[in-house]
Amino acid sequence: MTITVTLIAGREKSLQRRHPWVFSRAVDKVLGQPNAGDTVDIVSQKGEWLARGFYSPQSQIRARVWSFDKDEVIDEAFFLRRLTRAKDSRQPLIDEQGLTGYRLCAAESDGLPGVTIDVYDQVVVCQLLSTGAERWRKAIVAALNTLYPDACIYERSDVAVRKKEGLAERKGVLSGTLPEQPIVIEENATAGNPGVKILVDVENGHKTGFYLDQRDNRRIAARYCKDKRVLNCFSYTGTFGVYALKGGAAEVINVDMSESALALAEQNVTLNKLDLSRVKFEQADVFKLLRTYREQGQRFDVIVLDPPKFAESKAQLNGACRGYKDINMLAFQLLNAGGILLTFSCSGLMSQDLFQKVVADAALDAGRDAQILERLNQAADHPIGTAYPEGHYLKGLVVQAW
Ligand code: SAH
Repeated sequence: MTITVTLIAGREKSLQRRHPWVFSRAVDKVLGQPNAGDTVDIVSQKGEWLARGFYSPQSQIRARVWSFDKDEVIDEAFFLRRLTRAKDSRQPLIDEQGLTGYRLCAAESDGLPGVTIDVYDQVVVCQLLSTGAERWRKAIVAALNTLYPDACIYERSDVAVRKKEGLAERKGVLSGTLPEQPIVIEENATAGNPGVKILVDVENGHKTGFYLDQRDNRRIAARYCKDKRVLNCFSYTGTFGVYALKGGAAEVINVDMSESALALAEQNVTLNKLDLSRVKFEQADVFKLLRTYREQGQRFDVIVLDPPKFAESKAQLNGACRGYKDINMLAFQLLNAGGILLTFSCSGLMSQDLFQKVVADAALDAGRDAQILERLNQAADHPIGTAYPEGHYLKGLVVQAW
């Protein structure tokens, strides 16, 4: 029997615009007794069919949409279709850049709410964050086995947000055998030139193992680094630093709190046959270290600021702005005249406009003239559904300070 979720009058508008979420306060009544992850039809108060999705009894997002096509059945074949479409859309990028690491599926933006899938060479890593994703885990694995018959399918659903959906954290092999970690991926190859090699630990690394979304921005960063002194803050496994060295940097300092990330950062330098004597690794709190550098009168030509998400909820947005302003102001104070700041925010709640304002305020407080040279975004394998602007989470600016 079809389970039907009827919306309060007027609350059908966002679904008519193909936004994939139904909030609990938009629900009038539920016909039937859906369990977590069950497929439901969503209808307007007048009874018009709007969408087919899955039910999340414990979440404020009570239902999320699988399909806006009334004839589309949600079954194993549906997941194979969606993931095939996702793979096809990435193929030109994979071919052009010789990618062996890429995001296969960007959740809502690829029509699969709560399903994030990253490919790292022979390992496909899934992060299943919604009740619907959880319900269809087997179908997702079956589809991935079809698309990647030789790969290991590994799950990294060990994230706290699963609690909002009433799900426990999970991690482990879903199919095949996990090769020894870390594994090597390659990106940004150009015709005739090999790409950059990067070590990824899918078992213990952050998120699914690596920050694939910064791929284009790493390449862009390299072009500002020739003969420069580069400070790479929140370096994780040091890949902005690797690109800086490739771009001819005189010196690179990678700063991160995580010892294991910095250990991989060092290996990434040697893996790419770059000069380790030009690189330093500082295990430190960026907020404190930037102040220490300021006291010491240190100066840099290029600074990268790629902090973790500062705002998880709207309530945290003000605090996040203060955090962004603080590190950006410190960075401006540490830049030589004509120096370049590559600054990022991966907080989805922080709009591009707001981020730009915060960076502008930071320049003002540091007493520097500054110009935006480039606006940066997440790489194309992290697409943004046009009906789902929340999918645009990574914003960056290349700013020159005088
Ligand atoms: N720039 C990286 C990704 C950065 S992710 C890349 O391109 O791959 C954010 C990183 O910030 C994580 O590695 C985390 O360990 C580190 N981190 C978080 N808070 C920090 C702090 N206060 N000081 C130093 N590092 C921090």
